[in-house]
Amino acid sequence: MDDVFDAIVVGAGPAGITASKEMAAAGLTVVVLERGQFPGAKNVWGGILYREPTEAIVPGFEDEAPLERPIVEQRYVMLTDDAMIGMTYRSERFAEPPFNAYTVLRAPFDRWYATKAEEAGAEVYPEFTVIDLLWEDGAVVGVTTGDPDGELQARCVVIADGANSLLAQKIGLHREWAPIEQALVAKELIALPSDTIEARFALPAGKGTALEIFGESTAGLLGYGFIYTNKESLSIGTGALLEDLIETGINVNDMLDRFKAHPAIAPLIAGGETIEYSGHLIPEAGYNRLPQVFADGAVVIGDAAQLVNPVNREGANLAMLSGRLAARAIVEAKASDDFSAMALSRYRELLDDSVVMADLHKIRNITDFAHARPHLLRDYPRVLSGMFEEYLRVDGVPKKAKQKNIVAMAKRLPKRRLLDDLIGAARSLT
Ligand SMILES: Cc1cc2nc3c(=O)[nH]c(=O)nc-3n(C[C@H](O)[C@H](O)[C@H](O)COP(=O)(O)OP(=O)(O)OC[C@H]3O[C@@H](n4cnc5c(N)ncnc54)[C@H](O)[C@@H]3O)c2cc1C
Repeated sequence: MDDVFDAIVVGAGPAGITASKEMAAAGLTVVVLERGQFPGAKNVWGGILYREPTEAIVPGFEDEAPLERPIVEQRYVMLTDDAMIGMTYRSERFAEPPFNAYTVLRAPFDRWYATKAEEAGAEVYPEFTVIDLLWEDGAVVGVTTGDPDGELQARCVVIADGANSLLAQKIGLHREWAPIEQALVAKELIALPSDTIEARFALPAGKGTALEIFGESTAGLLGYGFIYTNKESLSIGTGALLEDLIETGINVNDMLDRFKAHPAIAPLIAGGETIEYSGHLIPEAGYNRLPQVFADGAVVIGDAAQLVNPVNREGANLAMLSGRLAARAIVEAKASDDFSAMALSRYRELLDDSVVMADLHKIRNITDFAHARPHLLRDYPRVLSGMFEEYLRVDGVPKKAKQKNIVAMAKRLPKRRLLDDLIGAARSLT
């Protein structure tokens, strides 16, 4: 091994692998340390991988990467305790290449993606857990893995250790995240034959769908449930803000069991065998509480930097793009032989000019808006369900009377609160 690497990357997730691939391709000496048995071994997600941002970073990935199904349909569903209200988008264009997104399983995908960094010249070492950073005159100069001879030196350390980054805390770039700044998700992988999946979700052979499910799927808490179709399995999960889980005492595992037992969900997974179970945090601090992402000799990327857009279900693509932008800043730092915080602040500049920050800025107030209104996912689905039932049921009641009943249901909603919700929604979405 080199004595002093240009960069040590901690974590072989989408962020770390992208950064290492790009730096190695630019001729830098790069080592990636990953605590898992192999990249992806410990990683969890829904997970939907978007094609266009991935293609921009890994050209031709569709021909090589282990992908599950192209997503040809998106469903949004609201559940009450016994009802389901849904909206589906499907179109011929959406169902043809170039696809918008694919379902992906992290273990095979990350493992494959790490080979791209190796092909570019990075060295990837699994089963190395970084436990601390090395310092000299206030600058980060390497990492320690806790093993004898476990100290490695670098001009720059790229912190890509995911949600709840302990290293970014150690470096003092952020405090411990508050429970309102993270969501906790429980997820299962349920095996089912591919033709069963296609029949249950009315899918063409080999194609997939994504369901985002609100309301009863999270026991009314701020968050959502999801079902994504893989080749021969379903990814099903649910999660909510940690603060609400703590406050209500609801256990996320129980929440998932309850979700799976819902009368609208149980038939979709019936007969399936749970082959994987996991729990994971999603960083949701958002734009308003973003940590500093650079220091003397270090940058923070991906989930470790809180770069997640929970509204649009985007995390991996933002992680990859932040990895690319950090790599660009580090390559420039190497050219000027200056890895100071000032030089590495170029990474934040590049982030600020990118779609990552544009989107995080756009949704910056949504969590606060929705969190302050716990009735949104509790009361509105119930009222809507009542309205639908009244409208649909043919029971001898004249339509005019039904219309009156429906209007009366809407009027029972507190007007001031409804107005406040509408104004709040408009403000937080613009
Ligand atoms: C349930 C769930 C569903 C999701 N669904 C989606 C989705 O559908 N689409 C989407 O785009 N995003 C989704 N996300 C978000 C997405 O998974 C993340 O945004 C993305 O994985 C972030 O990539 P990353 O490389 O920053 O972190 P990670 O993928 O978390 O990778 C961090 C890596 O660092 C390693 N590591 C940690 N600490 C150390 C250490 N001390 N030493 C060495 N290695 C270490 C870990 O083992 C891991 O490999 C989901 C997340 C969850 C939890």
